[in-house]
Amino acid sequence: MLDDSEVQRVLAVVAHPDDVDFSAAGTIAGWTDAGIEVVYCIVTDGDAGGHDDAVPRSEIAPLRRKEQTAAAACVGVTDLRFLGYPDGRVEATLGLRKDLARVIRQVRPDRVLCPSPERNYARMGVSHPDHRAVGSAALDAVYPDARNPFAFAELRAEEGLEPWTVREVWLPGGTAPNHYVDVTDTFDRKVAALRAHESQTGHMDKLEEFLRGWLARAAAQGGLPDGHLAEAFQVLDSG
Ligand SMILES: [Zn+2]
Repeated sequence: MLDDSEVQRVLAVVAHPDDVDFSAAGTIAGWTDAGIEVVYCIVTDGDAGGHDDAVPRSEIAPLRRKEQTAAAACVGVTDLRFLGYPDGRVEATLGLRKDLARVIRQVRPDRVLCPSPERNYARMGVSHPDHRAVGSAALDAVYPDARNPFAFAELRAEEGLEPWTVREVWLPGGTAPNHYVDVTDTFDRKVAALRAHESQTGHMDKLEEFLRGWLARAAAQGGLPDGHLAEAFQVLDSG
C-alpha cells in the first residue's frame, strides 16, 4: 500500500452527491490536511433523490450540486467534476468508461477511490445499481483505459490527454475490507459535510449517532482502540 507521503493527488469517483461523504469524508479530510489534492468526479446529479414532493424535480440537480460543493468545502475539496448522467439509470457503458478515463488523464491521480462493483449482501444500500455500475466503469477506466494509449485513442489525438497509470484503488464498502482509517479527529467535519446535503439528511435527527455507531463498529473490526472511529476500505494495488 502507498504511504500517503507518496500520494500527490486522489480522484474520488462516485455515483451520487453525498456518496463520498457517507463513505470517505473523514479519510479525505485527513488527506487534504496532509497536503494531498483531492478531486471529486460525481457521475449523476442525484436527481432521483430527496424526499420532498413539493420540490420540482428540475430543481433537484442544481440543488444537489450546490450541496455537494458545500460538503466538499468542509473537508478541503474545491475541484468537483459533475458528469450529469441520469440518476438511477447508470450503466457501465463504453461511454462512461471513456468519460472516466478522460477525467483520470486530466487529474493524473496516484490513487482512485470508487465504489465496489460487487454486490455486498450484508449491506443493501451500499450496492445501489448506480454504485455497482460506476465502480465497474471506474475500475475499467483505471485498467486498462486510462493507461493504454490505444484505448479511446481520440482522447490523445483530439484532446491531447496522455495515458496515465493509477497506482492504487480504494473501494469503500468493498466486500473484503483490508484497511481501516482512523477518522476520530475528522469526524466532526464528516458530520458537517453530510449536514450540507440538507435535501438528503435534513430529516435525519439521529444522523450523528448513526454515523458514530457505524464508524465505531468499523474501528472495532479494524482492531482500533475503544472509543475510536474508522472508515473501512478494500485497497487494491493497480500499479
Ligand atoms: Zn449513492
